[in-house]
Amino acid sequence: MTDFSMALNEDQVTLRDWVHGFAADVLRPNAHEWDEREETPWPIIEEAAKLGIYSVDFLLNAVSDPTGLSFPLALEELAWGDAGLCMAIMGSSLAVAGIMANGTRDQQMEWIPQCYGAPGDLKLAAFAVTEPDAGSDVSSLRTRAIYDAATDEWVLNGTKTWITNGGIANLHVVVASVDPELGARGQASFVIPEGTPGIAQGQKFSKMGIRASHTAEVVLTDCRVPGRCLLGGKEALDERLARARSGQRSSSQAAMATFESTRPGVGAQAVGIARAAYEYALEYAKGRKQFGRAIVENQAIAFKLADMRTRLDAARLLVWRASWMAATHVPFTGGEGSMSKLFAGEAAVHITEEAIQILGGYGYVREYPVERWHRDAKIYTIFEGTSEIQRLVIARSITGMRIK
Ligand SMILES: Cc1cc2nc3c(=O)[nH]c(=O)nc-3n(C[C@H](O)[C@H](O)[C@H](O)COP(=O)(O)OP(=O)(O)OC[C@H]3O[C@@H](n4cnc5c(N)ncnc54)[C@H](O)[C@@H]3O)c2cc1C
Repeated sequence: MTDFSMALNEDQVTLRDWVHGFAADVLRPNAHEWDEREETPWPIIEEAAKLGIYSVDFLLNAVSDPTGLSFPLALEELAWGDAGLCMAIMGSSLAVAGIMANGTRDQQMEWIPQCYGAPGDLKLAAFAVTEPDAGSDVSSLRTRAIYDAATDEWVLNGTKTWITNGGIANLHVVVASVDPELGARGQASFVIPEGTPGIAQGQKFSKMGIRASHTAEVVLTDCRVPGRCLLGGKEALDERLARARSGQRSSSQAAMATFESTRPGVGAQAVGIARAAYEYALEYAKGRKQFGRAIVENQAIAFKLADMRTRLDAARLLVWRASWMAATHVPFTGGEGSMSKLFAGEAAVHITEEAIQILGGYGYVREYPVERWHRDAKIYTIFEGTSEIQRLVIARSITGMRIK
């Protein structure tokens, strides 16, 4: 087990400062424009690709830090720059997480580079689980994948919704049911490679926040993929299904395996937004004068800032702990991954709202970034498992009971 240290090493400081520079120079100045445009920010992704931030190497380097801290450090900086642009840059990593969690080594080598492409020839990837009637209840997916033994192909039919990069991605990772009677244990993940007929974008959603990130329905109509697109392979699937049918317990489910690994990273993004709002409110409160003194000199405002900073630091510590546990293979016996995402998401909503209050009317108008940060923060209590679902995971972990 790697010893945990709160002191960042030289590599981590270099990475953090480098990503911070990109966030300050490229993301911050462009955040308002892309929030208003609500389109995929190709020039920003291209810039990130040129610098190596939108790339497989960046992701794999960050996640291979044995202390686990490099990835949350980078995500906090990107989201500090702008959460919508951060999501536009990091959306493809959800598909990578799906491939890493469920794919064989050969499948990882083949598909992961295709999630990013190269500068001048960018590719996007998407991870599609959620359906109109299956959000928190991932076990009730209706999208079906049926094996056609004659051609060694899988045929997928169904509708996915709220998918980041959905329909515009070059490569989609889709979680589908292969045996509906088995619920979550009868599901598998499939890669839908670029150019496959039968996959199309449905409705594109107009959102409250993270508007630079594309969110849409994905419709699968007799979408045929070769047998090798089943992540993990057919033999492993058949063995897993046989175990499930005989009533044996299994350690992982396709969608859950992905979410477990990505939650601390989602929390790190929430920390980045919260920090942006806290820093902005602190500076504003020192400069804004009412009744002949800076508003920060009022305990009512200074105590808000004290509470905001305390929650911010607590959120980061939970994110770092979960990231360190995941990297060092310490099991989440108390739902620590969920705790980090739950606390950081709710802290970001609270801190950004308090920042609006500290700015007063200036906090409420679009000329200032604080209202955008509040709109952006709200998604962190909803996606990748709502706050209620995180509490369920934690409650079940600490009680050992099937809390409903
Ligand atoms: C911007 C955006 C991007 C997204 N990106 C992706 C993506 O890339 N891929 C993907 O697959 N999905 C994605 N999602 C989907 C997201 O993960 C789901 O929205 C989320 O899991 C919640 O599902 P739902 O919206 O259907 O809400 P529901 O599950 O219908 O929940 C509604 C409410 O009921 C509560 N609730 C539900 N069940 C329980 C329970 N058992 N106990 C207590 N409370 C409960 C919830 O907490 C929530 O408050 C995205 C969503 C958004 C908005």
